Amino acid sequence: MIVELISTGSELLLGDTINTNVAWLARELNKLGYTVAFQTTIGDNPERMEACFKAAAKRADIVIATGGLGPTQGDITRPVLAKAMGVELELNKTAETFVKDFFRNKGWDMPEPSRREMLLPINSVALANSRGVAPGVAVQSEGTTYILLPGPPAEMKAVFDESVRPYLANHFGGQGVVLSHRYAVYGMRELALEAALMDLVKAQHNPTIAFLIKNGYIELRITASATTIEAAEAILAPWDGILKERLGNALGRRLEKSMLELVSEALLSTGATVATAESCTGGLVGKRLTELPGSSAYVQGGVISYSNDVKHKVLGVPQAELDEFGAVSEEVAKSMAMGTRKLLGTTYGVSTTGIAGPGGATPTKPVGLVYIGISGPKGTVAYKNEFIGDRDSIRESTAERALYFLYQ
Ligand code: ATP
Ligand code: MG
Repeated sequence: MIVELISTGSELLLGDTINTNVAWLARELNKLGYTVAFQTTIGDNPERMEACFKAAAKRADIVIATGGLGPTQGDITRPVLAKAMGVELELNKTAETFVKDFFRNKGWDMPEPSRREMLLPINSVALANSRGVAPGVAVQSEGTTYILLPGPPAEMKAVFDESVRPYLANHFGGQGVVLSHRYAVYGMRELALEAALMDLVKAQHNPTIAFLIKNGYIELRITASATTIEAAEAILAPWDGILKERLGNALGRRLEKSMLELVSEALLSTGATVATAESCTGGLVGKRLTELPGSSAYVQGGVISYSNDVKHKVLGVPQAELDEFGAVSEEVAKSMAMGTRKLLGTTYGVSTTGIAGPGGATPTKPVGLVYIGISGPKGTVAYKNEFIGDRDSIRESTAERALYFLYQ
């Protein structure tokens, strides 16, 4: 079943509103086994919107549009769809009940323009909207199913979950399932990763393999299609072993949980505490560590030791180390981690020192060189990392990788 998603609203074309609806719908529909083959975004212009519906009808079995179901003159999706289908609007009794009930339940008078929300293309099914006034719409014409959803994301999701899912299941049955397992791959570049899996990538059919570059790691996603979840799980089951054999230690965890959730669970379960000493990340590791509610159980605090002075005076990094090896060095990363751990009396100390760029590089210390130190009961280590990207992504990568090393 081919689906086309149409997002309506000039604010989307202007870049004023980020189109989160289309991303959400595409994800949910893919999970249900539908093939989302086209996504179109169109402003509130009747002629162009009508042309979009007509083009979509030619190439998709199901056309799902969001936005423009409100009561104002600018909300034109219902009449435009009726025109594209070549039918009239009619007063839909179910829609009338939904709209009137909404105002009755609130104890408000119904504004006259809200009558527009009861006028649907002939033979439409009105879809209840538990989060707002405008009902969704489902209607079939000449082999195409059209579904209209409200624009506000909370309303769109509510109508989809409560009404569109059952509607699709009734009309099109199960489409099978698409299931992905996602893994984090650390410390390997994309081309090296592809080379390591080249024969599998070339032979891929079911499951398929995809790489997505994230900050600090590559997400490796293998996706299986099958008739049931169990069958999809069975296709994916051997891949844990296959990937481990090919990638060895570079293959990190499955991505069901974020690195932060894993770190947090590990620290909570052992009662361990952590302190940071950050140079190039300027507090980002601390920010990440405190993202989850309840993080006060394991985060003590940290030192943003951006200058050498603070590294030396506050964290006790020996001046001789700073002079001899420079601030961006394995030695200083270790001393920073030990320093903050001692200063704040924690189980672990985490440090970052590196060159986030764009300036500050030397022939031996390029932009992206970052040392991450971890000090704990078993000793102190520092890991050398060479990140690529701009200042932001180097800093984000460093913070993500720091969580990863802390978790190890
Ligand atoms: P309303 O009854 O509020 O007018 P509507 O169904 O007519 O709802 P729109 O007027 O198109 O919907 O959009 C209402 C608001 O919903 C927009 O201002 C925008 O903030 C949000 N919105 C619309 N489309 C999207 C989208 N594709 N992604 C994210 N937000 C959206
Ligand atoms: Mg509107």
